[in-house]
Amino acid sequence: MTSLEQSDRRHFFHPGTHAYDHATGALKGLIISEGRGIHLTDVEGREYIDGFSGLYCVNVGYGREEIAERMAEQCRRLSYYHTYVGTSNEPVIELSQRLIEQWAPPGMAKVFYGMSGSDANETQIKLVWYYNNILGRKNRKKIIARERAYHGSGIVTGALTGLPVYHANFDCPFDRVLRTLCPDYYRDAEPGISESDFTAHCVAELEALIQREGPDTIAAFIAEPMNGTGGIVPPPAGYWPAVQAVLRRHDILLIADEVVCGFGRLGARTGCERFGIEPDLVTFAKGLTSAYAPLSAVAVSEGFWDVLMSGSREHGMMGHGWTYSGHPLGAVAALANLDIMERERLVENADHVGGYLLERLRASFGDHPAVGDIRGIGMLMAIQLMQDPATRTPFPAQRRINANVVDAAREQGLLVRALGTDIVGFAPPLITTRQDADEIVTRIAAAFEDVLPRVVAAK
Ligand code: PLP
Repeated sequence: MTSLEQSDRRHFFHPGTHAYDHATGALKGLIISEGRGIHLTDVEGREYIDGFSGLYCVNVGYGREEIAERMAEQCRRLSYYHTYVGTSNEPVIELSQRLIEQWAPPGMAKVFYGMSGSDANETQIKLVWYYNNILGRKNRKKIIARERAYHGSGIVTGALTGLPVYHANFDCPFDRVLRTLCPDYYRDAEPGISESDFTAHCVAELEALIQREGPDTIAAFIAEPMNGTGGIVPPPAGYWPAVQAVLRRHDILLIADEVVCGFGRLGARTGCERFGIEPDLVTFAKGLTSAYAPLSAVAVSEGFWDVLMSGSREHGMMGHGWTYSGHPLGAVAALANLDIMERERLVENADHVGGYLLERLRASFGDHPAVGDIRGIGMLMAIQLMQDPATRTPFPAQRRINANVVDAAREQGLLVRALGTDIVGFAPPLITTRQDADEIVTRIAAAFEDVLPRVVAAK
């Protein structure tokens, strides 16, 4: 083990990491030193294709000089000033206008900024409670989130996340959180049920939950337009219009968590655009700056903003904000990132090349005896491994087949992500070309070849 790796294991408290395995070396480390385009290089000089854009965030790829230059220039000119009490800076004004006019779903009025998807979703929930209190709807406290959702790992966002590992031993405040189904047609639909019937089943369950709890106790429904970390699950046919009809009927606010889906990931500007969702509130992060700077945004609709604004006449200043809200370096990184997204037509590229990669994965592995499903939209897709695809029987979870595939892919120079029970996730940068997509397929094929014959033989 190099001294750099030893120092990492001794001093750095990593997120989402098995502490004991990391400390003892049982968990293989990776120290990345450089990035260019879709490629990363580690400190030992090994090259990788980044098939997951970091954590589905480096949408324009690594090493963009123009973003670096504009951030450096901004840093020299004005590195920081706060945005409390109506103070502002030039980049954040320009960015807010651009988000409202060009990138956010129609009907949004204002943008609030944070540093991460988690803090932005924390803001969302505080705003929803604040809004209802101003309106005198003091009973409306509960938030509906979906099973297998990921909304962050803050206090309330950790509770909204529907993945048990984010809850265990953390004393999450669940008393205001309700859980509804993750609409996973492949995994959860009864045999012979159509997608539309499965949608009807999910929506009926949502309606029943609302009735059971009392509609006037429910403040909001939060969801990713397409589930990401919980397994990359495209919504079944008709899902979003039907869900929205239920929410509208009960006057329940809709928070679209676009942290992954936003800024082209699904081959549309937003997941809302892709699925025709009309949200009250939208959360952005990740692709907003392609992770060149930590920046998140909360967009609020005109109607919602009107309530906050008129409420301030009675309640005064709203006591919410962060030191780094509207940080000029984040804003300038976002502006440079959006320039690249627009100039290089990366939303369209995500649609075309993403569709091509999905086709290639289906053609290469659709009949594989350990593959149950290959799904995705735009540049976000997954391969679902299964012990017996015919009966949809999963491998025992403790075998962690997908983790073995991901390790083998790394040996082949491809970084992809193990999600849930035996899902292998792909989310390459939006600049990925067809040739890159071919190379991703070649490398994952080699990883499958390395791991799956043994697994299939041992069934
Ligand atoms: N929301 C979604 C949909 C996410 O995927 C994530 C992170 O992956 C978050 C929120 C939280 O973002 P962050 O990790 O920046 O706090």
